[in-house]
Amino acid sequence: MLTIGCHLSVSKGFCAMGKEALKIDANTFQFFTRNPRGSKAKDIDEKDIAEFLILAKQNNFGVLLAHAPYTLNPCSKDQRTREFAWETMEDDLRRMEYLPDNMYNFHPGSHVGQGIDIGIEQITQMLNSIIKSQQKTTILLETMSGKGTEVGSRFEEISAIIDGVKFKEKIGVCLDTCHVHDAGYDIVNNLDKVIEEFDSVIGLDYLKAIHLNDSMNICQSHKDRHQKIGMGEIGFNALAAVINHPRLRKLPFYLETPNELEGYKEEIRALREVYCL
Ligand code: FE
Ligand code: FE
Ligand code: ZN
Repeated sequence: MLTIGCHLSVSKGFCAMGKEALKIDANTFQFFTRNPRGSKAKDIDEKDIAEFLILAKQNNFGVLLAHAPYTLNPCSKDQRTREFAWETMEDDLRRMEYLPDNMYNFHPGSHVGQGIDIGIEQITQMLNSIIKSQQKTTILLETMSGKGTEVGSRFEEISAIIDGVKFKEKIGVCLDTCHVHDAGYDIVNNLDKVIEEFDSVIGLDYLKAIHLNDSMNICQSHKDRHQKIGMGEIGFNALAAVINHPRLRKLPFYLETPNELEGYKEEIRALREVYCL
């Protein structure tokens, strides 16, 4: 069974997202914990969550993926921005405990000229101060395209962050196909080699989720512009190979393509059609 969904708007609550997912034949989804540009999160609606958990169980939903706001930057030069990252992640994780055993993805950050080593150090510091041994949420570091001073576009950087984290069983990686392609990993012509490299540098045990996106730009462009599945430089066949790859096929896949619900529905249909049973 292919576990696939897309990014949905959290504004109407979890039941609404669950029903939207069912409408497009998805069996999971991703959502922002709050406005992607930051700001305050909505209050927890325990009744909505309880109803959603029943719906998710009845329909065999896979693990959900929460996404932190883009403004979260634990390796900013500015102390107030770093504090905001700590406070936001702490609050998000507290809220995620209402939805146990799901995952929380974040962009590791941009070091804004401080240098990659300080970036890695500050990201690790935040994780060690926030991760609790008893938490039920796995935190995922997203692989980045290497735009600007982004940390996490090389597998070595992700690996260095994980190395510094104390509770390693609470941490994982979300591989974004658009980002790794834009970072220079050739998943179009050499998927096996990229997966082997991931395994030797980070370890495939840490790979918990895939963001399935096509890219508007060529390999190693460091741009991070998502494209609809099959309409970009990665192409439909290469993305079909990703969902069918023996080391990846059991993972949950989340679409973040520029689409409305109808477009996502069509992409999910096309991908389910080529998923080998
Ligand atoms: Fe992301
Ligand atoms: Fe992504
Ligand atoms: Zn992106």
